[in-house]
Amino acid sequence: MTITTRFAPSPTGYLHVGGARTALFSWLYARKYGGQFILRIEDTDLERSTQESVNAILEGMEWLGLDYDAGPFYQTHHFDRYKEIIQQLLDQGDAYYCYCSKDELEQLRTEQMANKEKPRYNGKCRHLGARDESKEAVIRFKNPVDGAVTIHDLVKGDIVVGNKELDDLIIARADGTPTYNLTVVVDDMDMKVTHVIRGDDHINNTPRQINILAALGAQLPLYGHLPMILGPDGARLSKRHGAVSVMQFRDEGYLPDALLNYLVRLGWSHGDQEIFTIAEMIQYFELDDVNVSASTFNMEKLLWLNHQYIMNSDPAHVAKHLSWHIGQLGIDLAAGPALVDVVKAQRERSKTLVEMANASIYFYKEFDSYDEKAAKKNFNVEAADILAQLRVEFGKAPVWEGEALHQVIVDLSESLSVGMGKVAQPLRVAICGSAVSPAIDITLSLLGREKTLARIERAVDYIRATN
Ligand code: GLU
Repeated sequence: MTITTRFAPSPTGYLHVGGARTALFSWLYARKYGGQFILRIEDTDLERSTQESVNAILEGMEWLGLDYDAGPFYQTHHFDRYKEIIQQLLDQGDAYYCYCSKDELEQLRTEQMANKEKPRYNGKCRHLGARDESKEAVIRFKNPVDGAVTIHDLVKGDIVVGNKELDDLIIARADGTPTYNLTVVVDDMDMKVTHVIRGDDHINNTPRQINILAALGAQLPLYGHLPMILGPDGARLSKRHGAVSVMQFRDEGYLPDALLNYLVRLGWSHGDQEIFTIAEMIQYFELDDVNVSASTFNMEKLLWLNHQYIMNSDPAHVAKHLSWHIGQLGIDLAAGPALVDVVKAQRERSKTLVEMANASIYFYKEFDSYDEKAAKKNFNVEAADILAQLRVEFGKAPVWEGEALHQVIVDLSESLSVGMGKVAQPLRVAICGSAVSPAIDITLSLLGREKTLARIERAVDYIRATN
């Protein structure tokens, strides 16, 4: 048997953290067992589905690297098939036309509520004969009245739901369009999905889906329902809690690997290991190890992980993602050092790629002004003289190389009998615009001779003009 999982988002918004985790767990499960992972876009709600949202989902999947073996399939392309199955259920007596009006149903509901009963359809039309064409009708599934459905949930264990709890759900609306539970069942059956891994907000649908599948004589998939993700305040994670769209994490400077690592630990653990390569996630992932209870989204931990990934990943990989941010800043990469060298210089001090990009602009582009505090502290008449001399010494450097340049600074401070900081700090402000940068020798070698000399000159002029 080939393991087949699917991710089945409704395109009514962006790809959010909860959806991405569902996608990841489904993907990991398929990858672990050499199976198939399917992407299915559940776009039958024509009013709420948008192309923009489809694009956001596809973009999110791609950025996360969650590749699919089949799809994207669109449910709106399967309407004929849904019709066929609905007809089949009617023909075999497992579905029926229901003519009850909205008002009637509303009244029934009010009565049931007044009697402290669970509101449910009373089966009034269940035993009517042939279709009465003069009346508008929905189609309902004839749910078994006796017995119980057992979900052997791979996360939560066995869940038993009595059929008495389930009423006859609508599978086709009055306009003939199929409803969610019907379309999911048909596609899971047709796509031979073996493992339905999804959020536990769907758990109430599962016994209904099992009954429909059984009526169709289909092989039942196994189910694994993932616990909710909560915000720090204990409420279900939502926009209110800040970044929840996957692409927003990209925009804020997270690496996709760091986000995946964060997501895998949201409700799943393997001993007390925190950092997993993709290969390790695939190797260790088991639905058995998914927590039963909800997990809480923790931004600080994600930030910590991101820093770990920035520091420890292959710099070329980090550079590839950094280049997107540099591009966002409108910087010409040809105007400065190789990005991979910038990553090596900046990775210890950058928790996000946005931080790294912003702290690296001066390698490529002249800055507009000096950081006020840094200039005030380091730019005085004495500093102008030191910088002017330093410029002369740097001009003589036979090769532009970190260690030799560092030696120039040491020699100058010795010959002037001043501390090294008296030379290096004004220099730093002169070439970076602020008092923060990687080690001075690295900064100098990344910046290059031409920019360094020009910026020292600019600083000397600035100091003399302002002091
Ligand atoms: N389309 C449903 C949703 O986005 C998921 C259906 C499923 O996974 O069965 O919530």
